[in-house]
Amino acid sequence: MTGPPRVIAIADPSLVVLIGAAGSGKSTFAARHFEAAEILSSDALREAVSGDAADQGASGRAFRILYRMLDARLGSGRTAAIDATNTHGRDRRALLAHADRHGVPAIAIVLDLPAAVIHARAAGRTERLVDPAVIDRQIAAVERTLEAGQLLDEGYAQVVILTTPAAVDAVVVVRDPAATEPA
Ligand code: GDP
Ligand code: MG
Repeated sequence: MTGPPRVIAIADPSLVVLIGAAGSGKSTFAARHFEAAEILSSDALREAVSGDAADQGASGRAFRILYRMLDARLGSGRTAAIDATNTHGRDRRALLAHADRHGVPAIAIVLDLPAAVIHARAAGRTERLVDPAVIDRQIAAVERTLEAGQLLDEGYAQVVILTTPAAVDAVVVVRDPAATEPA
């Protein structure tokens, strides 16, 4: 870490929604800042149900399980971090509805890195290769979301936008019961 830390104070429990194209570093970020049991990963659940993390045909089943796990975790007062692209409002609203139902604040963490960085990382991965055209559409969806200032309107108590690898490196997540009130 070079610059000063970027402290993200989250209530515990809370719903943490990672947002970013494939290759933006969501899974790496999640593993660095959250415990394994806190991370609900759409890729891991697609792999679990179909044997293939890239099998989009398994998405419906994977997300039904993800929502059930989210409900169970929030219901027992545990933080959940969602490792999925979450680039579409529809998907984020489904997550927010769970947080609202449990009276838990939601925090959006957006990995809005330069497209060249995302593509280079996605291409350099050995597993889960994603079509660059799909990644471009995900990047565009993130840009539209940010330009519209949509996330606060959607009901997030806190929105963190990280635009450079250095900004991502500088993040420190701290648990603070008083950090955020439910939106
Ligand atoms: P996801 O598709 O958003 O889950 O992205 P991943 O976490 O799988 O990261 C994609 C690739 O970028 C992987 O090869 C990671 O090792 C790499 N990567 C992710 N985060 C960082 C980072 O902060 N620094 C560097 N140098 N590489 C990273
Ligand atoms: Mg991932």
